[in-house]
Amino acid sequence: MRLVLLGAPGSGKGTQAQRLQARSRVPQVSTGDLLREAVAAGTDLGRAAKIVMDAGQLVDDPTMLGIIRERLARPDAKRGFILDGFPRTIVQADGLAALLSQIGQPVDAVVLFEIDPEVLGRRFSGRRSCRRCGRVFHLESNPPRTGDNCADGMPHDLFQRPDDNDETVRKRLAVYRERTQPLIDYYAKRGLLHRIDADGSLEDVDARLENAIRR
Ligand code: AMP
Repeated sequence: MRLVLLGAPGSGKGTQAQRLQARSRVPQVSTGDLLREAVAAGTDLGRAAKIVMDAGQLVDDPTMLGIIRERLARPDAKRGFILDGFPRTIVQADGLAALLSQIGQPVDAVVLFEIDPEVLGRRFSGRRSCRRCGRVFHLESNPPRTGDNCADGMPHDLFQRPDDNDETVRKRLAVYRERTQPLIDYYAKRGLLHRIDADGSLEDVDARLENAIRR
């Protein structure tokens, strides 16, 4: 299974990618998470990326293609991958296609998470991530359950992403419309696009995603 999840920031791609990874054992590859790891590690890439991410802008295409090339070369990606947050530009999509055609492993399907802008606003304000295991929660619709801890048994340590504040969210949504939305047509023309309604309970969206990728 080689999947691309496409959709606005906050549309639930990351949450669904984590759930699909747990069900299918195919790894979620989130470029946002890879960049946040670089920020946390304080590497040169991380320091440069932090400035761009905090401004709600996109990290440049050659850097992102380098990151994805390295990540997809790791052994776990031999089973396939669930790309979450990549590609975000036409240049990235062309780069991904070239990379995958070299290894004869093209993308099987692209799933577009469609969501009302009003619902998006509520999702951002309640979104929290665990500092230690990286799982994504929502204070109202998906809080950690009692006894549902990190793998080491410690309770989740929730924080709000620094780029989830109102101003940066507005910027990120504008960047999505301008740079990433053209990918909808790009993948539709290639016969790869499946649209799903991304509003509703986690289980409803799970089912719609399963339906889309089994077709
Ligand atoms: P995400 O966690 O996917 O919302 O990504 C958080 C931030 O990381 C984005 O707002 C961008 O600044 C950066 N980022 C993640 N993926 C990409 C990408 N494919 N291309 C450029 N920037 C990215």
